Amino acid sequence: GPNLLIIGAGGVGDVVANKAVQFRDRFGTITWSARTAEKLAAKAAKVNARYGATEGKPFITTEAVDARDSAAVKKLIESTGASIVLNVASPYCNEAILHACLETGAKYLDTALAEHEFTIDIPPNWYERIEWPLRPEFKAKGVTALLGMGFDPGVVNIFCAWARKHHLDQIDSIDIIDVNAGNHGKYFATNFDPDVNLREVTEEVITWDEGEWKFIPHHSVWQDVTLPIVGEQRVYSMGHDELQSLAVNFPDTPRISFWMGFGEHYMKVLEVLDTLGLTSSVPVEVDGAMVAPNRLVKALLPDPASLAENYMGKIVIGVDVRGRKDGEDKRLFIWSTLDHKENYEEVGAQSISYSTGVPVMTAALLMADGTWDPKTMVNVEEMDPDPFLALMPDVGCPWQADELPTDDTWPYAEGQS
Ligand code: NDP
Repeated sequence: GPNLLIIGAGGVGDVVANKAVQFRDRFGTITWSARTAEKLAAKAAKVNARYGATEGKPFITTEAVDARDSAAVKKLIESTGASIVLNVASPYCNEAILHACLETGAKYLDTALAEHEFTIDIPPNWYERIEWPLRPEFKAKGVTALLGMGFDPGVVNIFCAWARKHHLDQIDSIDIIDVNAGNHGKYFATNFDPDVNLREVTEEVITWDEGEWKFIPHHSVWQDVTLPIVGEQRVYSMGHDELQSLAVNFPDTPRISFWMGFGEHYMKVLEVLDTLGLTSSVPVEVDGAMVAPNRLVKALLPDPASLAENYMGKIVIGVDVRGRKDGEDKRLFIWSTLDHKENYEEVGAQSISYSTGVPVMTAALLMADGTWDPKTMVNVEEMDPDPFLALMPDVGCPWQADELPTDDTWPYAEGQS
């Protein structure tokens, strides 16, 4: 099979590396790369040991790289002979890796929108800054790039494509619902990089409504839903990567919203941080030094990677899709659930990382055998959803679709599926 290069060795990278080794018969060499050589080598040693690699014959090898340096990434692609590059590093690396793939012809995949560390991006034009302007070049050179291939964005976009392909003639609304009902036992922590996370939850919310972009204050709009497995949950309207590409790729759908569950305690702590200005990235003077308040908070919060070990409970992520089929109203809830402890026992990561890494590997397998090879840049909802959804359970994430009442009610009782 094709040689694989994984860039990023955080929570998601851990899952992708484990899954790559589990499916190693489909690939040639597997190289794992991140910034810090020592940390990376220790992680790779663990993965090799977990699957019984013998001394001197590792399943996965490592190469440190600065993934913001496009020339260095290009060199690494060339020296490893990688024809598939899985970018699960920080989103600040996307631009450099995209260019390296464009130049070498290696297939590219990522899980999050590109970001610039020191600028605030104004939605909804996120994809129009770095990714989409490169699309004509990817197309002209026939190079494959799959954008946004985690769970959300990622699998939820594919659920929408599947609903449109098989179940609905017209989609009137898409509600993406993401609930982590797990408990890490800490007073306050973020599940991924506090920088990115605290910004995401405190910026103005953008939603696609009545066929146009609307802005609302964060956490000002919520609904109570009753989901399978995790029961009743309060979920808040939030902006999220996938809204922009879905609005483009589902032009007949007037309303697309993203909702995330937050507990009361989390909301209270966040309100205090935000009100005091501690979520701000604008530096303030402290005893003669300039300090960004969010950097200080980040330094004090638990390392997200350290949460996995004691995480208990489950996540449920799905899409509530409503529209019409043969003139009749129809509503589907298409969803997955994962268990933090189960995922930790398998690969040493919690379910949020697991739910991102499994779709990455599912797509990588489809890229490896040529099933998914658009030879241009696409957002994942532009691909045929069927082979992906047929394969994802085998890689580690089951899913299901339920037809729901069209009157807004939820038929799930607490704790049932
Ligand atoms: P982490 O912050 O835990 O890990 C990031 C990794 O990227 C680290 O291994 C880090 O290396 C590496 N990295 C950062 N900068 C560089 C660089 N300049 N050169 C090389 N490597 C670098 O992130 P996660 O694993 O939690 O998330 C990974 C990605 O997945 C993120 O883009 C995140 O936004 C996305 N994501 C997407 C989701 C989805 O559903 N679509 C859900 C969750 C996450 P080092 O350790 O050496 O510093």
